[in-house]
Amino acid sequence: MTAKVLDGKKIAANIRAEIGEEVESFVSQTGIVPHLSAVLVGENPASEVYVRNKQRACDEAGIASGLHRLADTATQSELLALIDELNQDRAVHGILVQLPLPEQIAEAEIQEAICPSKDVDAFHPENVGRMVQGKPRFLPCTPQGIQQLLVREGIEIAGRRVVVIGRSDIVGKPIACMLSNRGTGGDATVTLCHSKTEALDSIAREAEILIVAIGQPEFVTAAMVRQGAVVIDVGIHRTDDGLVGDVDYAAVSQIAGAITPVPGGVGPLTVAMLLRNTLRAAELSAGS
Ligand code: NDP
Repeated sequence: MTAKVLDGKKIAANIRAEIGEEVESFVSQTGIVPHLSAVLVGENPASEVYVRNKQRACDEAGIASGLHRLADTATQSELLALIDELNQDRAVHGILVQLPLPEQIAEAEIQEAICPSKDVDAFHPENVGRMVQGKPRFLPCTPQGIQQLLVREGIEIAGRRVVVIGRSDIVGKPIACMLSNRGTGGDATVTLCHSKTEALDSIAREAEILIVAIGQPEFVTAAMVRQGAVVIDVGIHRTDDGLVGDVDYAAVSQIAGAITPVPGGVGPLTVAMLLRNTLRAAELSAGS
């Protein structure tokens, strides 16, 4: 079997076009232009690329964007002061602090300092709590992108056996939660695995939908995948031969029923969902 390739780039382009239309109608109804402010601390080359891509996507969707740069020697209080300024600025609807942050910065305190109604990454404990309770204000971008990909590809989620490998706060934990919540895009039976999981291979092989977010290049082999499974690869790694994911794509695509490529799978959807959240933040601030 050769797996169907789940074209995240194409789905993301459709979503971005839809958001562009929604932004246009929001602006014509309210006179308010949604605005995303990104904060970049230091000069991490990958972060520079991510922020540039996000700003370009904003431009294309009619969303205004600003970039605030701090040196990699910036202190916690300097960053907190900038966040406070953006929290107060009524023209700013969404705030994004690009991760990773330099060592001297305590990430959790920064995430908690962002006003929850401007927290378009959905990392603030209030937004995490709302998601867990099934009444989200914003959904975190990468898990929301994965859920959209599954829904838009017509992949049945309800009642299916899902295995998530990786329990990070930004991908693994929230996607496990979202897919097991009640309602559309949920109702799955989810197992969440991590580095202490025993018999990982056999648990992974039970998955009808296998989601991998571990940060280990080509870790998931064909022997870990059930025949016909849907495989979602979140990992991104730069190698001499180009980008690869957490899944051994060449081998696994012979076993899986459907698979996301790297690049062109989950990554583009993450950016599209950031636009969705920024528009939502602007709508909330306008009371709509
Ligand atoms: P983290 O490094 O924060 O977490 C990794 C998780 O994987 C941890 O829970 C860890 O377990 C688990 N893990 C690590 N090694 C193993 C192993 N051998 N077996 C089982 N579990 C393991 O990762 P992120 O979620 O932030 O990122 C994962 C990958 O996804 C990275 O490659 C990252 O670049 C990429 N990414 C891509 C995005 C996109 O838009 N496409 C967005 C975000 C991330 P434990 O908790 O026990 O340590």
